[in-house]
Amino acid sequence: MSAPLYQRYNQSIPRYTSYPTVPHWEAWQHYQEWQDQLALQAQKAKDGIAIYIHLPYCEHLCTYCGCNKKITTNHRVESPYIDRLLKEWHLYVQAFAGNTITISELHLGGGTPTFFAPAQLKRLIEGIFAEATAHPELEMSFEGHPNNTTQEHLQVLRQLGFNRVSFGVQDLDAEVQRLIARIQPLENLVEATENARRLGYNSVNFDLIYGLPLQTPGKLANTLREVIALRPDRVAFYGYAHVPWKSRSQRLYDESHLPSPAERVALYEQGREAFLAAGYEDVGMDHFALPNDSLLIALHNKRLHRNFMGYTANATPLLIGLGVSAISDLGTAFGQNSKEIAQWERMIDAGEFPIDKGLVLSQDDRIRQKFILDMSCQGSVALPAHWEFETHQRRLLQQMVADGLLEQQQNRLQLTPTGKLFTRHACSLFDAYLAPEGTSSLKRFSQAV
Ligand code: SF4
Repeated sequence: MSAPLYQRYNQSIPRYTSYPTVPHWEAWQHYQEWQDQLALQAQKAKDGIAIYIHLPYCEHLCTYCGCNKKITTNHRVESPYIDRLLKEWHLYVQAFAGNTITISELHLGGGTPTFFAPAQLKRLIEGIFAEATAHPELEMSFEGHPNNTTQEHLQVLRQLGFNRVSFGVQDLDAEVQRLIARIQPLENLVEATENARRLGYNSVNFDLIYGLPLQTPGKLANTLREVIALRPDRVAFYGYAHVPWKSRSQRLYDESHLPSPAERVALYEQGREAFLAAGYEDVGMDHFALPNDSLLIALHNKRLHRNFMGYTANATPLLIGLGVSAISDLGTAFGQNSKEIAQWERMIDAGEFPIDKGLVLSQDDRIRQKFILDMSCQGSVALPAHWEFETHQRRLLQQMVADGLLEQQQNRLQLTPTGKLFTRHACSLFDAYLAPEGTSSLKRFSQAV
């Protein structure tokens, strides 16, 4: 990519795992509002819901981390946390008021789900399914830390129906790992990957990060070589999000350790080229997959969907988030649980939905949400006649067309192959909440590239 291009588009833009994006949600006045929204959607529970469960504990702090987590080596926290997750699930079961609940997707994220003992995870999953039925095409996945995902974790979760595991690799270079305080030898990743395959997981995914402190093209080349040799089915190649105003641990290293914006773009391009050369296809927004992966099939069949968990091959009518900071999407409203463990616990103990903030979508939000989903999942949008862009968005559109990133034919906007790298910018053309760069009301997001 030419230097002027990345300079021109070197802006802070949301990742659009939701629209409207989380910084624009507001505090719920009372949990009853959430219950009312749920009651309106209750009959959709039979059509196959997705469940995301947030397991926030980690034994060690990785300094680059921007997730909602709690660092502890005290494993006595496990059992009460699982008890409360099951109580929270039961609140939803009651709100669905006798409607059949069918689960078509379930994901354990964190934090570190494998911080929890296999027996605790078994208790959690069995408790969830005690009050729901499994969709025939149920997909179950979890995030595994290569350092503590044991053979027993993999075995127990596989027996419970988990068929996908995602390992956080980030970078395999020892110097980078030291600075980000995530020491994980390659042998641990190899062992966890081989164990998962032997036990019958049909998809092993890796998460990698570009733009980490001390990362160089040479170091990244070594990581890419080792990773590609292990042949993960999917790779998420995320840009490091430097948000020290939100994540205090990111202040533990000097910003001079970070690659410059130009170096960061070069690292992304290096990774992208390596994956494409190795037979992976670009799904969109930093995701690559081997041919025949369900994400690619969904992409080609125009069924690809995007939610808080990233890209998915199934669009479910409801996404229920359980656990501290988890996000739910009811189609008509979003809600996020409290980010404070103590408050989440208090609300569950009081028999209340622990929703802290959210938003009921307006008609305009829903129209724009569809455009943003079409752009991020299909790379194109069919605009209604007489659609009016705001002045700054019209300017961005003209710029993207002039730069060969978007093509406009009558009422259709289409990302070009180069433009795919700027999907976030193309989505922002429809974001009514995103103020122009340089204005004081602009919320702070990570860099788009
Ligand atoms: S990166 Fe993952 S393992 Fe590390 S602190 Fe954050 S949530 Fe925990």
